[in-house]
Amino acid sequence: MSDAPAVSLADQALSRLRKLADGNGIVPEKITLTKVEEDIYTIEGTLGLVPKNDVQKTRYPGGARGGKNRKILPDMAALQTEIQHIHEEMQKGDKWIQDCIKELKTAPGEGWGLEGAHVTIADTSVILAASETCQACHGVRLLTCAQCNGQGSNICTHCGGAKIETCPMCNGSGHNPSQPDQLCAGCGGSRTAPCRFCHGSGQLVCPTCHGRKGVPCSVCKGTGQITEEVALTCGAETHFKISGQNLPSGLRRGLDRLGIANLVKGYADIETLPPQTEEEPRENVHDHARNKNFVVALSYRAKLPYADLRISFNGYKATINAFGKRCALLGVPSFLDDALEHWRVKLKQATRGEVVLDAALEGRAIHEALELELIGKGQIKELRKKYPVGMSQDVAKEILLNIRLALNRFTLRVRSLVAVICGVLATIIFSGIVLTPLHADLIGRSSKITTTLFDILLPVAVITASWFALSAAVRFTLQRRFRNLTISLNQKTGKTGYVMVIAITVLYFIIYVMAHLR
Ligand SMILES: [Zn+2]
Ligand SMILES: [Zn+2]
Ligand SMILES: [Zn+2]
Ligand SMILES: [Zn+2]
Repeated sequence: MSDAPAVSLADQALSRLRKLADGNGIVPEKITLTKVEEDIYTIEGTLGLVPKNDVQKTRYPGGARGGKNRKILPDMAALQTEIQHIHEEMQKGDKWIQDCIKELKTAPGEGWGLEGAHVTIADTSVILAASETCQACHGVRLLTCAQCNGQGSNICTHCGGAKIETCPMCNGSGHNPSQPDQLCAGCGGSRTAPCRFCHGSGQLVCPTCHGRKGVPCSVCKGTGQITEEVALTCGAETHFKISGQNLPSGLRRGLDRLGIANLVKGYADIETLPPQTEEEPRENVHDHARNKNFVVALSYRAKLPYADLRISFNGYKATINAFGKRCALLGVPSFLDDALEHWRVKLKQATRGEVVLDAALEGRAIHEALELELIGKGQIKELRKKYPVGMSQDVAKEILLNIRLALNRFTLRVRSLVAVICGVLATIIFSGIVLTPLHADLIGRSSKITTTLFDILLPVAVITASWFALSAAVRFTLQRRFRNLTISLNQKTGKTGYVMVIAITVLYFIIYVMAHLR
């Protein structure tokens, strides 16, 4: 643990600002420190613990499942008692605190800044389960079937319970239909026959319960029992408090912006203070702000450098803050916006073709924006990576937009030319294939599927080839123009590309229709 950074924050800040300025219209040496207030500040932190067992309840039909780490209790009341018991056992003595501290040792900064987090003590997971009689069926498992009222059968819908029906053979005449002088062979002249549907019983088996007189209870899935399972994990909820007197307001703002917990990410040296001895009992603190009681488990000391810097940017003065060992710079004015003004104007003019782009590229930031655009990383966040401070978001956006416009202007002629050539070639290819006997030949020789496939794949292939040709032409043009820069394989073809695709599609359609009208 070092007391002071090898290089002071002021020097780090100055050299970073000067690097940003270099080549961007402001002489690095014209950025100077006029006042430095740098110190190493100590922030005390305490981590409090409130015992909290994580309880996860699930209910499922049927009896309790056995298994590893499972404890089955006779009833729900016993389950609640057991949960209570485990909870009370846990809070007895100091062991749970020691266990939590052991867990916290593996956290970043040993738990510095952890607020409202849940610490889980390893190997304390237990699953408790108890079953109770199903409230819905009272343990009967079957609920009386509503359709048959628990009878298992319903009155036959065909005979209405009469058990007999009009003889279907003679249709109730009693005579043989083909030989009217003879009696019906089916009913022997009685004109009725036992009902075919209920076989003369007058009852049909209930279709809902299939004669079982009841249906399985849907709540307990016919088991008569419901089990409640509680997965219990012992642990604690954390509460973190800092106290640091006389912290400069800039440092407080920096802490707010960064978040206390993030100090562990290389901003501060954090040490855990030696634990309290057995003789002095642990403090039980009441935090009025949060209205919570907790036991102080760990104390920390964070040391971080911080500086208030008065800086002159070529005469324009501003106060900035340098924060933490990583020297995060806060409050840096967008001094590059003005410094780049001259080249920003030139770039704007280049988008209108009034000057050549080179005039603007002397500004380093603009050249870097060009490099990003050419490798396909012309997004605002990429430029902001290079200029996290000193350049406003709006100016970064403006530079990238104008670079794109200027490049578009530069490649417009090549794009148009290639698009037209592709269009002409496509027309020749389409007419050469579709309008000549070649295509008719193919249709004559091949199946319908092959022909259709060919008719679809032909334009797709031509469009794909044209698209690649256009992209390659743009790339080639840019590579010739910017010999020393990397140009990504995939170059934007702009609106020209889409116009070309639409034009070729329309052309194909016209030629196709012409071929089929003949
Ligand atoms: Zn039930
Ligand atoms: Zn039924
Ligand atoms: Zn019947
Ligand atoms: Zn009959």
